[in-house]
Amino acid sequence: MPSGTEITGVIVRGYGLYYDVTTPHGILRCTLRGTIKRERRKTTPAAPGDRVRTTLTTPGTPEGEPAEGVIEEIMPRTRSLSRLARGTTDSEQVIVANPDQLVAVFAVHEPEPHPRLVDRFLLIAEARGLEAVICVNKLDLANKGDVERTFAPFRMAGYPIVTTSAHDGSGLDALRATLQGKLSAFAGPSGVGKSSLLNALSPERAAEKTGEISSATGKGKHTTTWTTVFQIGPDTYVADTPGIRALQLWGVDFEELDRLYPEFRPYLGACHYDDCRHLNEPDCAVRAALDEGVIHPDRYASYCAFKVGGD
Ligand code: GDP
Ligand code: ZN
Repeated sequence: MPSGTEITGVIVRGYGLYYDVTTPHGILRCTLRGTIKRERRKTTPAAPGDRVRTTLTTPGTPEGEPAEGVIEEIMPRTRSLSRLARGTTDSEQVIVANPDQLVAVFAVHEPEPHPRLVDRFLLIAEARGLEAVICVNKLDLANKGDVERTFAPFRMAGYPIVTTSAHDGSGLDALRATLQGKLSAFAGPSGVGKSSLLNALSPERAAEKTGEISSATGKGKHTTTWTTVFQIGPDTYVADTPGIRALQLWGVDFEELDRLYPEFRPYLGACHYDDCRHLNEPDCAVRAALDEGVIHPDRYASYCAFKVGGD
């Protein structure tokens, strides 16, 4: 392809001034037009997950040097997982741009899954307008019935639950099916098997981590930003986002906490008081649904704890 060819792609990682963009023709190592940086001071100008338009400046070499290019335009973000940039009060640091869903990973044991922690990850997803899938890993350490019981409140709330074992490979096809055609951000406490699952899904990641290839584009050592996106199929990406493994409930509006429990939503607006908090107000539609058994008591207790106690 001649220099100047326009190519679209997705940023998979940043290295200081450089960004790797995955394109239909392979990885393109890009710089960013200065105008983009100047126009985007209040946010991370270019983040993993951003869809971009680039132009090729230097074709790749047969020896494996990557093709080089320039990012000309960043497409508007549909949504993002972000936090407040350190040392600022109004700048957004984007952890991953354009995620379609959050895959909240837990283990059946080692570590034990704590329902409140599951709720926290779900709240992060809901607050960001992301779909959430719960992945329960290490299925080889338990029987499926126990897992079903532990996660019943979340299933009742409508969340899809995929059970996997990164060790024996069970459930990986079902997990792949839920990832199809989306950019999924993996999150969850440490030790549950996120790295193992991501390696099983992405041979590229597995090879990188074991040092088979030094970096996707081979220019020796670079400081990577902490999020890396891996393409695992056509239009299918997984984001390895260490930054949200321990994310606080940043951006969660506790005034609107009830909206973040999807199973409460059909009842909101039906309470006697418009500003009902669903705690002890009379004629509360949410508590009526609880009494009828439509809302799981554990999820209601979780709501009350966050509502009263905050983060
Ligand atoms: P991460 O911290 O969430 O990235 O977790 P890792 O992938 O590093 O895994 C933590 C530990 O759990 C490692 O010792 C893995 O070998 C182990 N592990 C990961 N997946 C499974 C699994 O499906 N079954 C069992 N028994 N152990 C697993
Ligand atoms: Zn109410």
